[in-house]
Amino acid sequence: MQLTVIGTGYLGAVHAACMAEVGHEVLGVDTDAGKIEALAAGRAPFFEPGLPELLTRNTKAGRLRFTTSLAEAANFADLHFVCVGTPQRPDSLAADLRHVEAVADGLAPLLTRDTLLVGKSTVPVGTARALSRRIAARLRPGVEAQVAWNPEFLREGYAVKDTLCPDRLVVGVTTPHADQVLRTVYMSMLRVGVPYISTDPATAELVKVAANSFLATKISFINAMAEVCDASGADVVTLADALGHDARIGRRFLSAGLGFGGGCLPKDIRAFLARAEELQVGEAVSFLRQVDRVNDRQRRRTVELTRHLVGGTFAGQRVAVLGATFKPDSDDVRDSPALAVTAEIHAQGADVRVHDPKGLDNARAALPGPAYCTDVAEACRDADVVLHLTEWRQYRDLDPTLLAQVVRTPRVLDARNALDRGAWHAAGWHVRALGRPAHVPQPGHSDVVRLTIPQAFGVASTAPTAGDPLSGVPK
Ligand code: NAD
Repeated sequence: MQLTVIGTGYLGAVHAACMAEVGHEVLGVDTDAGKIEALAAGRAPFFEPGLPELLTRNTKAGRLRFTTSLAEAANFADLHFVCVGTPQRPDSLAADLRHVEAVADGLAPLLTRDTLLVGKSTVPVGTARALSRRIAARLRPGVEAQVAWNPEFLREGYAVKDTLCPDRLVVGVTTPHADQVLRTVYMSMLRVGVPYISTDPATAELVKVAANSFLATKISFINAMAEVCDASGADVVTLADALGHDARIGRRFLSAGLGFGGGCLPKDIRAFLARAEELQVGEAVSFLRQVDRVNDRQRRRTVELTRHLVGGTFAGQRVAVLGATFKPDSDDVRDSPALAVTAEIHAQGADVRVHDPKGLDNARAALPGPAYCTDVAEACRDADVVLHLTEWRQYRDLDPTLLAQVVRTPRVLDARNALDRGAWHAAGWHVRALGRPAHVPQPGHSDVVRLTIPQAFGVASTAPTAGDPLSGVPK
């Protein structure tokens, strides 16, 4: 099929490349000429594993081209995916739909044939219907345009895999024709059994915001439990492991720490709150305000615990920060909890040195001031405390014995509860984390002790096993 992808950011660039990869002829469109130039040359303008290879292969094969011209897009295809940004409005919690509306307003008068516009951006429920009316008012006589919604669930860092092998496809359509077009687009995935849920646009729009709200709630739930653990001396990691064994709860998204961020979850739950108010059902989702507040509090708790660790003031203290991006395997620093903590600690007078495997350029642009280091040892040199703020694999693999020789004081705050604190403690570090007692178990003993059934009943005694035998789920 011939199709366009309008908006080639984190979502659109990956969607365009993957649609070409499954055999379609794709034209990517963006208003950012620099981004278009990079993509056309086969270069990904951001870090996403696997994307450069797809761009190179498909641009070379001639299936994937890029342009800044909406007129060229209107001429090229009768199927347009809309992937532009929907950030939070500066003056309220609501989503700013100006980019989506600009695409509709710009494209509609250029259309000369019947067209299907498919939104993939995350939008408030009701957007497709409003957009449909907006477009109809701008079409040339005799031309028809339908609007469908096909929300995207990809995760940065896994975006190529998530797009080529999604766990489900959700399409919100108003006609059998639109449904048939989308089934054809995604034929290669349907053939291998990817679930395809065809519904109305409102339900499709709502699936995305409901999914993000659920994930955000799960994270804030365990972070709220971490606060209770701090107040009571309990251990949130053991608590989460034990809860996670209940199949109805599950262990994923139950890792306490610095909380969520990025270009999606925070603004999506706020936009949902704002839209629910408009629909006069604000009370039904008012818990999302608490979810947002709990999340925000983790950033302040991390700053406060760090200040406490360095003796009550940041003046004259050197703080090493490991991680600037909002999550590992991405260079995205939008609403990054790590960068928010870094900014606050820097503002309070600390000498801050930041390392991140992929996000240094974006972090430096968003937050000039701290020193940015390409090497972990350089960031940690003479540090009074090390903060682990984004759970990149390479930080879990660090040798705490070697790192202890570089810092001034071997203190670490593991704000992601991802380091092997027994090993760090054994290497001489004072280890702290949100929701965990300061006490660290002796080497050779696990944080989590598996009781066999006879043990649990006091029948026999077996030595506890090391590691994390209960979970098997990455922390
Ligand atoms: P982004 O900021 O990386 O990309 C948006 C792109 O749209 C930019 O390149 C921008 O230049 C372009 N754009 C803006 N106005 C335009 C116009 N009028 N015409 C053409 N291009 C235009 O944002 P993103 O992270 O890709 O997110 C896009 C949408 O996808 C959002 O609604 C987001 O919530 C949703 N989403 C994102 C992800 C993710 O992981 N990033 C996942 C699922 C859904």
